[in-house]
Amino acid sequence: MAKYDRVYNFSAGPSMMPLPVLEEAAAEMFNYKGTGQSVMEMSHRSAEFKAIIDQAERDLRDLLSIPDNYKVLFLQGGGTLQFSMVPINLMNGSGKADYIVTGNWAKKAFTEAKKFGDVRAAGSSEDANFTYIPRLTRKDFREDADYVYICYNNTIFGSHFQEIPDTGDIPLVADMSSCFLSEEVDVSRFGMIWAGAQKNVAPAGLTIVIVREDLIGKAPENTPVYLDYETHAKKDSMYNTPPCYAIYMAGLVFQYLKKLGGLSAMHEIDVRKAKKLYDYLDSTDFYKTTVRPEDRSLMNVVFVTGNPDLDKKFVAEARENGLINLKGHRLIGGLRASIYNAMPEEGVDALIAFMKRFEEENR
Ligand SMILES: *Cc1c(COP(=O)(O)O)cnc(C)c1O
Repeated sequence: MAKYDRVYNFSAGPSMMPLPVLEEAAAEMFNYKGTGQSVMEMSHRSAEFKAIIDQAERDLRDLLSIPDNYKVLFLQGGGTLQFSMVPINLMNGSGKADYIVTGNWAKKAFTEAKKFGDVRAAGSSEDANFTYIPRLTRKDFREDADYVYICYNNTIFGSHFQEIPDTGDIPLVADMSSCFLSEEVDVSRFGMIWAGAQKNVAPAGLTIVIVREDLIGKAPENTPVYLDYETHAKKDSMYNTPPCYAIYMAGLVFQYLKKLGGLSAMHEIDVRKAKKLYDYLDSTDFYKTTVRPEDRSLMNVVFVTGNPDLDKKFVAEARENGLINLKGHRLIGGLRASIYNAMPEEGVDALIAFMKRFEEENR
């Protein structure tokens, strides 16, 4: 990090990118592989860009072992647009959908979906301020629901599903924005997975959708063309100008992860980083965690000192020490360290060392 005088950025997103990826992008900035131009300047219809997007898709398919009957779409509109696109495209059989409400993003998706059909919360942890993941079984879902929706990793509250809920034949839709590519996932257990790229993959502006083919093409007649998955699926994400540079950056990250040894290798590092931090948090009563231990997120570690003024001081002093964006989400306050794939282990070590010092000085 010293080489470029960089900080450790614990932001929930946009967030850190792997340094080797930034270096590669920098090296290719002015002349991408002898084309005499930056990827930013390249026609999205050029052979060069076609090669970039095709390679990115192939690498993502390799990393997640995505079955052939799933489409990969590179879309725009952020995570938030999927809150609308999911019900518009998928709630077209019985017009019913069941949501598991485990945090702010799940609740937003749930609220938006209500505009489009008969939407019910099959489970919720709002009664305990989203500090746990409700365990549901098949009988908790309406048999004729068009889909069941979950937010696999809750960015703001710092929780994560430990098991994929069994929904039987009902397609399961998962927002994986803040844990995408941090673990191996059996894609065939899901009807659809989607992720905003700016948490764990690439710069903002790209949303990755992985959707089973039989779920595409059912949107109502009056669906705006851009909001229909079929529009994008038919044109291989090239219906209009895609977010070219973000796709290129995502592609570099996919290559980086493959070189690292794939998602199991990445996961091992993520587990080690999170364990260090949680072990320290559990060893002291100065900091408190709120999420039920078995439901903790590996990516977003939420904690408090119990004193809002002290939390503020923590954030300010951490910043002076090159540890930035440790403030909790404005909804819940406190502190949050987002330690995505690209956060180096040394960043976590530096955070823990700082936390120990801060504890000693402010006890
Ligand atoms: C950040 C986030 C979103 C929203 O993403 P935008 O791209 O800002 O719309 C949705 N879901 C989860 C889990 C997130 O972390």
